[in-house]
Amino acid sequence: MRVLIVEDEPTMRVSLRRGLEAEGFAVDEAESGDTGLWMAREFPYDAIVLDIMLPGRNGYEVCRTLRAEQNWTPILMLTAKRGELDEAEGIDLGADDYLTKPFSFVVLVARLRALLRRSGGGAPVVIEAGDLSIDPAAHTVTRGGADCALTAREFAVLEQLARRLGEVVSKAEIVEKVWDLHFDGDLNIVEVYIRSLRKKLDEPFGVRSIETVRGAGYRLRTDGGRS
Ligand code: CA
Repeated sequence: MRVLIVEDEPTMRVSLRRGLEAEGFAVDEAESGDTGLWMAREFPYDAIVLDIMLPGRNGYEVCRTLRAEQNWTPILMLTAKRGELDEAEGIDLGADDYLTKPFSFVVLVARLRALLRRSGGGAPVVIEAGDLSIDPAAHTVTRGGADCALTAREFAVLEQLARRLGEVVSKAEIVEKVWDLHFDGDLNIVEVYIRSLRKKLDEPFGVRSIETVRGAGYRLRTDGGRS
């Protein structure tokens, strides 16, 4: 899941980025409304965390402009103090949710995940592939009921395959959703994660759930490898 943070205060921006990365999100940052607007138009974000008081174009204007352009990326607005934003006004502008500073990081992540679930295009809450069960909301994977411990990044790669169960997903599509703008572009990084996923999800169980489709990408089998 790729998220854009638009926030001018460096401390807040950096701590948001680090926190969200630790939760397995790919995160890009913008320091002004204009840069944020440009990035939101240019890249396929799953959600935007948008501060209201920004240099240049403010958060309201960014939100209104995106909605006017039919860009429906979920937006979570950050307000500096109570009363800065009338809640009804924020919703009218097209924001999906907002939080008043100071907020707890746990609450921010919960709200963000709720937004992502709502916009998930009707994807099932838990994705089942044979006896493999992937829960994007809880960030857990089980094989035959046994927990498989994955790192945040391994989970993010698996989630991209699971959301398109049975379809071939290219390395470029995976990188676009899981890594951020500063990623240097070697798509072979995906192979490293596929290898570790196979070690954890398949090899101990003597099955093969993630198939390599030469020159095209990877496919998570609908039967979870147990045919
Ligand atoms: Ca600000």
